[in-house]
Amino acid sequence: MGEFKLSDVIIEQIKDFNHRNLTKEQKSLIDKLILNEELKKRYKENGLCNVCNRIKICIFWCNYCLIQQNFKNWTSGNNEVDEFIQKTQLKAKYCHQIMEWIEYDRFENVEYLAKGGFGTVFKAIWKDGPICNYYNHQWKRSNNEKIALKCLHNSRSMTAQFLKEKKFQSMHGIAYGLKDIHKKGLIHHDFHCGNILSDFIDSAYITDLGLCQPANVKTFQDSNKKIYGVLPYVAPEVLRGKEYTQASDIYGFGIITYEICTGLPPYYDVAHDEFLAMKICQGLRPKINYRIPQLLLDIINQCWDANPLNRPKVNELYDSLRNLYNYGSRKFNPAIVEQIKEVDKINEDSSYLSTSSPFLSTCTLSYMTHPQAIYTSKLLDFKNLPEPKNSNDNNDLLGNKYSGN
Ligand SMILES: [Zn+2]
Repeated sequence: MGEFKLSDVIIEQIKDFNHRNLTKEQKSLIDKLILNEELKKRYKENGLCNVCNRIKICIFWCNYCLIQQNFKNWTSGNNEVDEFIQKTQLKAKYCHQIMEWIEYDRFENVEYLAKGGFGTVFKAIWKDGPICNYYNHQWKRSNNEKIALKCLHNSRSMTAQFLKEKKFQSMHGIAYGLKDIHKKGLIHHDFHCGNILSDFIDSAYITDLGLCQPANVKTFQDSNKKIYGVLPYVAPEVLRGKEYTQASDIYGFGIITYEICTGLPPYYDVAHDEFLAMKICQGLRPKINYRIPQLLLDIINQCWDANPLNRPKVNELYDSLRNLYNYGSRKFNPAIVEQIKEVDKINEDSSYLSTSSPFLSTCTLSYMTHPQAIYTSKLLDFKNLPEPKNSNDNNDLLGNKYSGN
């Protein structure tokens, strides 16, 4: 969502407000001035940077002043890598999420440890050490930290390999978190990408458990029939007013996984309205002109099956993913490796958004979001939606309204 810069006229009106302690009048003025829900939420949480007046992404520092301004001071020498690091840095809300490019001369006592599948591992001392705190307007580091260095031999394909691992690690992390939630007999209830926190270092975490509740509790939904959610991630049975179950979380997982694979938010180019809700009930699912390895697509298809009973339980889901990529040993199943190679070739040949494959990198993707594509929770109140079913042909469902695809 780019920079969080408000117009000067707006800043002039709100710059003296205490974002954490707004008066009633100030609150209603904010509601009037900041229309974007995401921005409003960020403003209320973090306030404005008092240097550049942008809405802060995290409470502690201004990502623009502190991080973006520093982009000119480092480069890996590879654009793809630079963009990837920059993007993760801009999203960082905590110190440990700030991924950095480190020059080799910042390491000392480099010693060989082992040779692995993708490269060689060394141990070393990182003289400066990782950022561990932000204090007095500067980063604090824990100096002379012991670290492992991994040497990747073929840097071009290794970049791709590395980013691919990241995607699988994210899926793993999310499935693991969901497994934890379901094991406790809970339902997440508001499962969408906005609630996934990815540190891009190791894994991804599920957050915002505000609506999380026991599976055996008859939901508030039954009493007043109100459903809140982010439309693209809400299962068709829930859109029709049926109870939200653990299987509805699994549906959300399918959509999230598709998004992780393709790098594009679901239905980003259409309005999130009753028409879309109807099409989802008729079997529409996110689909872009981009190939996903069949083994992974099979899992996604099961997750977003129209019939909740056909969706896998979270344990099965977790095991299927682990079968494709073993998080512990960081090894891919040879079958998925073959399929990844295959789809990479097809995707490279097709003119998909005229960028490099998003399975390799989401950094270079650019796309226009429909003004009525809304990715924050809102009241979903649809009447007379058709009985959910699966459809074999997405294209038929897109209709004239989506002919731009
Ligand atoms: Zn700033």
